[in-house]
Amino acid sequence: TDPILELRDLEVHFNTFDGRAEVINGVDLTVEEGETVAIVGESGCGKSVTAETVMGMLPQPPGEIVNGELYYRDEELLGDETAHERVKTESLGMIFQDPMTSLSPVFTVGEMMRDVMTYQNKTNVGWLEIFRNIVGRRDVSEADMHDRCIELLDRLQIPDPEGILDRYPIELSGGMRQRVLIAMAMLGEPEFLIADEPTTALDVTVQDQILDLLSEQVKREDLSMLYITHNLGVARRIADRIYVMYAGEIAEVGSCEDILDEPLHPYSRGLVDSVPKLTEFDREGIEGLIPNYTEPPSGCRFHPRCPAAVAGECDVTRPPRFELADGREVACLLYEDGLSPAAANEIAAT
Ligand code: SF4
Ligand code: MG
Repeated sequence: TDPILELRDLEVHFNTFDGRAEVINGVDLTVEEGETVAIVGESGCGKSVTAETVMGMLPQPPGEIVNGELYYRDEELLGDETAHERVKTESLGMIFQDPMTSLSPVFTVGEMMRDVMTYQNKTNVGWLEIFRNIVGRRDVSEADMHDRCIELLDRLQIPDPEGILDRYPIELSGGMRQRVLIAMAMLGEPEFLIADEPTTALDVTVQDQILDLLSEQVKREDLSMLYITHNLGVARRIADRIYVMYAGEIAEVGSCEDILDEPLHPYSRGLVDSVPKLTEFDREGIEGLIPNYTEPPSGCRFHPRCPAAVAGECDVTRPPRFELADGREVACLLYEDGLSPAAANEIAAT
């Protein structure tokens, strides 16, 4: 079967004061129909930029798609703005992080404000007004629109849906606001959801509730989903497969079980090892920082941080994504000959 969504060799650059930043460097990704795929990586690894590109929301400039194709049901979208716009309206749904609580230090005020203006520019009016703006494009009658809102709020287990329609977001708890944001994403009856860290700002109990509610909607409506997170535990709960992303490249692809039980790429192993039991994934679990994208490391972008790096090889040759016998894919030179003795030794040593 053909995947519902396929990204081929995506490259995205950003023009910055320091020069040209090569933020996405050849990303391939597929989502099969009915599948949930998670992209997992540290802040700044390019996962949000990937989601924005798929959603047709990449700010250009400063971003620039310099290479790549995006297929949605066999239709190429990156070269065709009209088609992208149509697919976005008819088929995609985007779940954002609650803007009221997502004042993340990772973004500048300007970036956050642009975000708010672009995606959430109606938070000053009642939620009903936002709903109207989305569903209104679809020629739905006033009564049907109202019913759909109530039905969705109800499905997301929001108490007193009628009353909520007249409340302002600031009057709601973070968890309730996130439920409303999911309901909003579902209003256009999408078949493909894109979620960018929707539960990150919530405490763990609320996060679990939201993930359960989201999973329920995905199952019930038979949706496909691309879920962006820095949290491996969240990815395990929600996804069928995981793409581990590092510095604008895909390091490893596999089922949740494979990646969590037996990570192969040295970066994935660092990520998995840095998950303290039963607590939040520690972003600082691996030594060093994501490289400067204006002068990315030669060869394997992970080599300056990699405990298994081989001098003269890893700093010279960019590892392609090797497909192993069991269908897993890993972009590391250790796996050039599959699960060779060298690779096995390396896994055993960590
Ligand atoms: Fe480490 Fe080399 Fe593999 Fe890159 S290619 S992850 S530097 S061992
Ligand atoms: Mg992000």
